[in-house]
Amino acid sequence: MGAPHIGIAGAGLAGRTLAWRLARAGCRVSLFDAKRRDDLTSASQTAAAMLSPLAELAVSDDAVFALGQRSMQLWPQWVAQMAEHSGQPVYFRQYGTLVVAHAQDQSSLEHFNRLLHHKLSGASQDQVQTLDAAALGRVEPALAGRFGGGLYLQGEGQLANDQWMAALALELDRLGVQWHESQTVERIEAKAMICAGQTHNIDIAVDARGVGSRAAWPQLRGVRGEVLRVECAGVALQRPVRLMHPRYQLYVAPRPNHQFVVGATELESEDAGPVTVRSVLELASALHSVHPAFGEARVLRMSAALRPALDDHRPAISLRDGVWHINGLYRHGYLCAPALVDDLAHKLME
Ligand SMILES: Cc1cc2nc3c(=O)[nH]c(=O)nc-3n(C[C@H](O)[C@H](O)[C@H](O)COP(=O)(O)OP(=O)(O)OC[C@H]3O[C@@H](n4cnc5c(N)ncnc54)[C@H](O)[C@@H]3O)c2cc1C
Repeated sequence: MGAPHIGIAGAGLAGRTLAWRLARAGCRVSLFDAKRRDDLTSASQTAAAMLSPLAELAVSDDAVFALGQRSMQLWPQWVAQMAEHSGQPVYFRQYGTLVVAHAQDQSSLEHFNRLLHHKLSGASQDQVQTLDAAALGRVEPALAGRFGGGLYLQGEGQLANDQWMAALALELDRLGVQWHESQTVERIEAKAMICAGQTHNIDIAVDARGVGSRAAWPQLRGVRGEVLRVECAGVALQRPVRLMHPRYQLYVAPRPNHQFVVGATELESEDAGPVTVRSVLELASALHSVHPAFGEARVLRMSAALRPALDDHRPAISLRDGVWHINGLYRHGYLCAPALVDDLAHKLME
C-alpha cells in the first residue's frame, strides 16, 4: 500500500503543523477548517508564542516540561527547514526570558524563583540565574535602572506565530495539501470527514479542532486569553520580559518592526467576545510600568481567544473509535507542538 490519505479537521497550530510534517513525508493530506486560512480568531493566531519550558513549569508539570525541552531542540530545525523549502523566514529567537517585579512585588518574584528550584532537577536549575540590577541592565539595556534585579531563564525562546501560520499556509499549498477552507466539520468517522452533509473519504482521520472538538471530547474546556499588540519605536527589547505581580503575571514579547505582544489574561470563561476594558487597563498599565516610553505605543490589535484545556492541563494524543485526537494544548501549545506533532506523525505513518 502507498502512503495513506490523512484527513485533518482543524487548521490551527496543531492541525496545520501536522499536515506539514505528513505532507513532507509523502502522505496525501486533506485539511478542513471552519474558517478561512487567514482568519485571525483562533488561539493559534492570538498567542504570544513564547517558548518557555522553565517559566511554564510554575503552572504545569514534568510532562509539559519534557515536551517543551524536546520541542526546543526541534523548533530551530523546523524553522530552518521552513525557510529553506518555502523561502519564508520566520522570526525565532532563543535569547532567554527575563522575569522582573517592582519593589512592592518582590515576594512574588522570590516565590516564583523558589517554585522553579523546587520543581527543577539539579542540572536544569543552572538555567535559572539571579541577576542584580547592574547585570539586568547589561542583559537588557532598556531595563537599566528600572528594577532592583531579576531572573534570567536561559534557553527560552519565542516565535512570531503569525509568520509561522502564514508560512505553513504557503508551504502546504506548495506540497499539494488539499485545503477545504470555510468547511465546518460536522462529524468525524474512522475513515471519513463529514462537512455540510458531504462525506470525504480518507484512510486516517485526525481531530485537531481545539475547543471545536468539545462534542467529541466532553472534558475539554476553553480558557479565555486576551492580548494587545502594540508598536513602539521608543523601547528595544531582545527577549520577552515577564512581570510578576501578586494578582497576575503579564509579559511583553518583542516582535519584528518595533512590535510587541502584551499578554495575557487567563479567565475561566468560554466567552470568546472582544477584549474587555478591565483587561486593556491591566495589560496596558503593566506595559507602561515596564518602561514609561510604552506610553506612546500605538495599539495595533486587541485579541481574545479560547485555549483548549483538559483537566490535567496536559496536551494529549489519543485514538478513540478509529479517530486520532490531538488536543488540550492549553497555554503551552507553541511550547509543546513540535514534540507532540512529531509523536503523532510517527504514529500515523507506522
Ligand atoms: C492569549 C493566548 C496566549 C497564548 N500564549 C502562548 C504562549 O506564549 N506560548 C505557548 O506555547 N502557547 C500559548 N498559547 C496557547 C496556544 O495558542 C494554543 O495552545 C494553541 O494555539 C492551540 O492550537 P490548536 O491547533 O490545538 O487549537 P486552535 O488554535 O483553537 O485551532 C483549532 C482550529 O480548528 C478549527 N475548528 C474548530 N471547530 C471546527 C469545526 N467544527 N470544523 C472545522 N474546523 C474547526 C478552528 O477554526 C481553528 O482553526 C496562547 C493562547 C492564547 C489564547
